[in-house]
Amino acid sequence: MIARWWRKCGDSVSCGLCFRGCHVRPGETGRCGVRFNDGGTLISPWLGRFCAIAVDPVEKKPLFHWNAGSFIYSLGSVGCTMDCPFCQNHRIARPNENVYREFPALPEIYPDELAHDIKQLGLSLVAFTYNEPTLQAEYICEVAPVLHEAGISIALVTNGAMSHDAARSLLECLNENDAANIDIKAFSPETYQKLGGNLETVKGNIESFTAAGIHVELTSLVVPGMNDSIEEFSAMSEWVASISPELPLHITRYFPARNYHEPSTSKELLYALASVARKNLRHVHLGNI
Ligand code: SF4
Repeated sequence: MIARWWRKCGDSVSCGLCFRGCHVRPGETGRCGVRFNDGGTLISPWLGRFCAIAVDPVEKKPLFHWNAGSFIYSLGSVGCTMDCPFCQNHRIARPNENVYREFPALPEIYPDELAHDIKQLGLSLVAFTYNEPTLQAEYICEVAPVLHEAGISIALVTNGAMSHDAARSLLECLNENDAANIDIKAFSPETYQKLGGNLETVKGNIESFTAAGIHVELTSLVVPGMNDSIEEFSAMSEWVASISPELPLHITRYFPARNYHEPSTSKELLYALASVARKNLRHVHLGNI
């Protein structure tokens, strides 16, 4: 499927889906490993194709203040626009990049089919989750009107690294019944850079999703030696409160994964960070304790 948010630069293409703005040469993929220059056209072979489908409690996303107590149809595909060394879902977010060069054997799920599958299970919520959902932004824009028409609300569980243009397009197709859980992985530009991300982009997207009336909750995975400073956490929670002290914050516990082998986060540190955040925010939740 031909991607959106790109332009030609000779034989190469410049992708504008996320903050990275990759210059992708013919026969290569961008940093996400998903979007591919096929003879001067940027394609995204996994659009509408999902390798992980499950029904989860909505609290697992985590979303605690949106349709609490409900189950949510959950879809995950491949690739990520960031590159966290401790990614818990790296098997789908960062597999061997050669898999992207061929069209996947998995069939595309058409919008009517997706709405039908969700309704048949008696559900009215769907999450794009497990890997970075904005890599499915074209598909989400296509299915959103069909899902809304069927009375289904949408949640995105995202790293918030999409470009301003892609965020604007997503916000045009989402509505006030929809939700996003956006990661805030650190509050230092240097740490974000180590994770292949960009703090200012994430802050801008948290602000624009909230301003658009989307239900927003935030997640901060606390990783020892990466983002566990009390001072930084305090500054982060102050900034969140400047948008709204009602924005829920989920503080979650890291366990060793992928290429990061520090011991798991201590419970004492998580409790300390939660009490710092509670000075500024009304809804602070601890996860994976
Ligand atoms: S989505 Fe981001 S990482 Fe992927 S090709 Fe586009 S700019 Fe690069």
